[in-house]
Amino acid sequence: MPVPFGLCLIYWWGPRILPAFYLNATLSAGLWGLSDYYNWPLYGLPETFFVGFSWWLFVKKRNGKIWLPDNQAALNLLLFGILIPLLSYKLIQQTLFVLKHVISPDFFILNYIKTFLGDFISIFAFTVPLLYFLTPLLSRKNMLISNLEITSRPLSSVMEKRQLPEFLVIFVLQLALSLFLPFSEFWFVYGMFSMYVAIRMRFSFVIIANLYILLLTYLMPVLIYGKEYLSQLQDIHLINVYLGSSLLYVFSFLTGRIMSDFKKSQAMLRKKNEELEHTNKELDRFVYSASHDLSAPLKSILGLVNITKLEPRESDQQFHLNLIETSVKKLDLFINEILDYSRNKRLEVHAEAVHLKELCDEILSNLSYIDGFQNMRFDLAELNGVKIIVDKLRLKIILNNILSNGIKFQKPQWDEKPFLRIISQKEKSNLKIIIEDNGEGIKAEMREKIFDMFFRGSTSSRGSGLGLYIAREAAEKIGGKIKVDSEYGKGSTFVIEIPQLV
Ligand code: ADP
Repeated sequence: MPVPFGLCLIYWWGPRILPAFYLNATLSAGLWGLSDYYNWPLYGLPETFFVGFSWWLFVKKRNGKIWLPDNQAALNLLLFGILIPLLSYKLIQQTLFVLKHVISPDFFILNYIKTFLGDFISIFAFTVPLLYFLTPLLSRKNMLISNLEITSRPLSSVMEKRQLPEFLVIFVLQLALSLFLPFSEFWFVYGMFSMYVAIRMRFSFVIIANLYILLLTYLMPVLIYGKEYLSQLQDIHLINVYLGSSLLYVFSFLTGRIMSDFKKSQAMLRKKNEELEHTNKELDRFVYSASHDLSAPLKSILGLVNITKLEPRESDQQFHLNLIETSVKKLDLFINEILDYSRNKRLEVHAEAVHLKELCDEILSNLSYIDGFQNMRFDLAELNGVKIIVDKLRLKIILNNILSNGIKFQKPQWDEKPFLRIISQKEKSNLKIIIEDNGEGIKAEMREKIFDMFFRGSTSSRGSGLGLYIAREAAEKIGGKIKVDSEYGKGSTFVIEIPQLV
């Protein structure tokens, strides 16, 4: 029993536990009936070697994931954590026993096989559930030496509740069976139970089932037939039983892990499919609406060109040319928005230092063509000296859309000029950029819709209705959020919250 615990302890806390483990192994040598107490320090060595070697091979060399999250980790534990170290440990231990005349050389091979299989069963059946259930718990409580990146695994997801009654029935059935089907003869029946659990249920159920079978098959016979039960079995029979149970544990363990992995990837596939379906629908809508929005100004340009051709007066021609120019600018704006959308989807996030004031100045100077720009007062004074580490492309897309809306949706004022005020606030590792205007404001029922694709607040809006949709997409791409607060007729406040990328 100390060996499975020793394994878990060294996996959790490293080789610093070896001296304590060695002391324990030395002192418990007496429990195995070894009366030559002066040799106990020697007998404690192979076991300590096993634990240390297993840690070195599985955790250090193979980078083993000790919380057994997938089939690869499970196989690695089996091979490098248990089988290879145990084969070596038993070789050293049995050789030592022969040299010290604890066993006769004639029994070397028999003892080697018998103790290897016996130890394998108990180590395997105890270590796996301890590692699987306790490692995430200890990691959550910060009780491990290194921080493992354990994907969160709440117990409710580990043990599926609806399968619990079925599992309990199997527990009781196994208990009943163990009363009249001795394991030594009918281990394959137990194996069938275990495999049923592995195929039907999750990995967690199967490792509990295996531990339960171990307790039933070792405890039950002892309770029923008395302590001498195991020693009464002939060696060859005992080895058969051990081999049977070892195979039972290993196969159901691996099958359970594979089934769990399979269920996990199925769930992931389903989620990915749903995402794809959603993106596909969005793309369809996008193509439909975009082609509509592209063809309208083109048609009007074509109409205007035809009228201009027939128009003899130069002043009227000029008037039509101005109208054509407006349509072309609208088209250009729309195509730029589509390009922004595609850049946001396509390009990797790239963090760089950005001077917020400089960026806003640059954006505003590019927006000076918008009607009413000259009437506005821009208040950026609070941004002086604010430097942030952020993805510049995304921040520019976001600010460009919100600032251009602030200019477009200004309201003629009696008492004060239309204004746009931008301030920034640091909050823990987040940065808030707050953009306030005293424009038209947004009706309460429209406040969430304005972020939808192609949503325009009114038919008089000359934009595409894509701006805020793209802004929100860009914010999400860098792990940020955009919120709006507005009073209809008074003005709006947009809050951009972005994590600082360092
Ligand atoms: P567009 O500006 O092309 O119409 P947006 O997605 O940028 O599309 O905005 C959607 C709608 O949200 C706008 O049509 C407008 O009704 C409303 N809106 C956005 N910003 C403001 C603002 N600052 N003030 C008033 N209304 C706004």
